[in-house]
Amino acid sequence: WIQRQNMNSNNRIPVSFEFFPTKTEAGHEKLIAAAHVLAEQKPEFFSVTYGAGGSTRDRTLNTVLQLDQQVKIPTAPHLSCVGDSKEELRKLLDQYREAGIRRIVALRGDLPSGMGRASGELRYANELVEFIREETGDHFIIEVAAYPEAHPQARNFEEDLQNFVRKAKAGADSAITQLFFNADCYFHFVDRVRKAGVDIPIVPGIMPITNYSGLARFADSCGAEIPRWIRKQLESYGDDTASITAFGTEVVSDMCRRLIDGGAPSLHFYTMNQAESSLAILRNL
Ligand code: FAD
Repeated sequence: WIQRQNMNSNNRIPVSFEFFPTKTEAGHEKLIAAAHVLAEQKPEFFSVTYGAGGSTRDRTLNTVLQLDQQVKIPTAPHLSCVGDSKEELRKLLDQYREAGIRRIVALRGDLPSGMGRASGELRYANELVEFIREETGDHFIIEVAAYPEAHPQARNFEEDLQNFVRKAKAGADSAITQLFFNADCYFHFVDRVRKAGVDIPIVPGIMPITNYSGLARFADSCGAEIPRWIRKQLESYGDDTASITAFGTEVVSDMCRRLIDGGAPSLHFYTMNQAESSLAILRNL
């Protein structure tokens, strides 16, 4: 019996969980309750998203500190550079460093429509990674985003791949992928990144399926394809949420098994602030 390389000492795949900061107190309480449940899985880390342009600056900061200090799971803030000045970014980095935060997810971000053109001083995520390294040296583990199906604004796959390589060379330690529902695109991407001479871990971002129309809209907006056979099946369930969730959990669990068998270093779950959908997948693994 040989311990597989991508398993931890409990022979389980390492995991991390992502949350988004909520606007309401009730939403925040649900997030914290979900985090307590997911903490039992002993994740490597939690992460908390950031509204580009600083729309969630304080809420992201407060949620990160609460998860880190009260739920006691190391928590990584996401930080995006479009719409934030270097001074604003510097201040946030200082706050996180002083609070003992050691990991950060560095992104370009997308300004919400209506916020006009990007007003930040840094245009792309590779510039943000460089900036974080200049300002804070090796203090933070830096995660960046990866796009197995190419970023929606990329002119082509090759250019996007080269832009990913820039982020790694600028000092990123690890990457988390955009959601996808096709394991082959992940393996192809990892293979191409390795051939380009980059060896940082590339962690699949896993989106549990719990509804159809919202997921289809979101997947479209970030350039992730829902294969036709999955779409057709989900569509056929209409409003039957139980069937959507049962089928979705089966499909995503199967994909996760393939990813683990193929050597994915860990799994990062887009929890949507709910514990159960990620747990259902983990129970199947
Ligand atoms: P970049 O790596 O900068 O790439 C953006 C585009 O520009 C790509 O098309 C790329 O090919 C091109 N490009 C990159 N560098 C250069 C360069 N030097 N010169 C020319 N072209 C270049 N968004 C949020 O607003 N908040 C979040 O918290 C958040 N969390 C996320 C977490 C994960 C794991 C992922 C995968 C995405 C997340 N996003 C978040 C979405 C992300 O901000 C968007 O996908 C955004 O459009 C791109 O961000 P990036 O960091 O990948 O950008």
